[in-house]
Amino acid sequence: MKILVLNSGSSSQKACLYEIGETLPAHPPLPLWEGRIEWGSDTAAISVKNSQGDVQKENLKVRSREEFVRHLLNTLNVGPASAVASLSEIDAVGHRVVHGGPHFEDPVVATPQVRSAIADASTLAPLHIRAELEGMVIVESLLGPVPQIAVFDTGFYRQMPLYAQTYPGPYDWFKSGIRRYGFHGINHEYCAGRAAQLLGKEPKPLKVVSCHLGNGCSVTAIQDGQSIDTTMGFTPLDGLMMGTRSGSVDPGILIFLMRQDKLNCEQIDGLLNQKSGLLGISGVSSDMRDILSAMKEGHERAKLAYEIFVHRLRAAVGGMAAVLGGLEVLVFTAGVGENSPEVRATVCSRFEFLGLKLDSEANQQTSLDRDIAAADSRVRVLVIRAEEDWAIAAECWKLAQASAKVGRTG
Ligand code: ADP
Repeated sequence: MKILVLNSGSSSQKACLYEIGETLPAHPPLPLWEGRIEWGSDTAAISVKNSQGDVQKENLKVRSREEFVRHLLNTLNVGPASAVASLSEIDAVGHRVVHGGPHFEDPVVATPQVRSAIADASTLAPLHIRAELEGMVIVESLLGPVPQIAVFDTGFYRQMPLYAQTYPGPYDWFKSGIRRYGFHGINHEYCAGRAAQLLGKEPKPLKVVSCHLGNGCSVTAIQDGQSIDTTMGFTPLDGLMMGTRSGSVDPGILIFLMRQDKLNCEQIDGLLNQKSGLLGISGVSSDMRDILSAMKEGHERAKLAYEIFVHRLRAAVGGMAAVLGGLEVLVFTAGVGENSPEVRATVCSRFEFLGLKLDSEANQQTSLDRDIAAADSRVRVLVIRAEEDWAIAAECWKLAQASAKVGRTG
């Protein structure tokens, strides 16, 4: 079956088309087609590639998000990088839904009732959820009544122990939906499964700490394939230092800024989400590559930004190892995790007390999904390519298989 995946971010839109046969492949296959829109201030860059390597790139003046998404999806069957003769070849569409609120855990068919329940959670992530629901409407208008499946980035965390989900504020917070939801769950769950597969083990029993280090960063503790704690919280602002996001700061700072500097909520939102993190401290960039090169040229604030980033990451990994009561596998994934041997080596160097030893040569290699720990290390260290879109396609395939089975037996 051919499965289209839509993954809407706040400043980008990704889409992939996968073909999955009778059995789910052990490794993510090459997509038949992949497309991406990057929104700038007045232009948007669209790039599309099919499995034959044909490419289509355009830079268009910004119009509505909807028009661009339609344009992107039209390149599936029209133009130099097309992959299907007709959109009717697509059997199902999977959507990454960033927030499932307190109710959604497993992937579900996005019926009108489900969509309205997703819309109810939109106050928790308004920009993302609006884009995701809009994506479902666009798909319906282009493809007709194809099954659309919502896969939740927060779903992996719904089984976390209550004490890990509950903030120690007033007791009523939890009931009113103020709790730790966690994010990047689709990729952390995928990485835990892939880690077990790479090590030739079952997910049970395995103690994994997974570090997703992209523009957004989070660490998740996974025991026996289930998440038991994570650094992102009620919003994706909590936890680690990120590209432009602060991660956890003393909430007293916000009270101080409101009282002393009379900042309002929009201003605080802007400071914490866009003007903090690597960019805020270095004043150079939110991109770890720029931080590393500025640091090598002696830029003091870039050095400080790097030091805060790795300090907080080490503290989070150590905390998660304590929550797990041990550490068997440490995973690095997403842009920084996959591509920065410096960050991996700096973080790992403090875990020698747990018997973790890096193979420094393996750490420098660029191939993905590999073990970079020394042979005698007591902790395996894996670099795993983030495969959110593939994980969503695989969930859609599993749901389709399960409903076909129900159809056959019932
Ligand atoms: P997103 O969270 O938007 O999906 P990615 O997972 O693609 O982001 O990660 C993007 C980040 O990866 C960039 O901001 C950059 O800091 C980092 N990155 C990419 N390549 C490298 C590299 N070679 N060295 C260090 N960092 C890198």
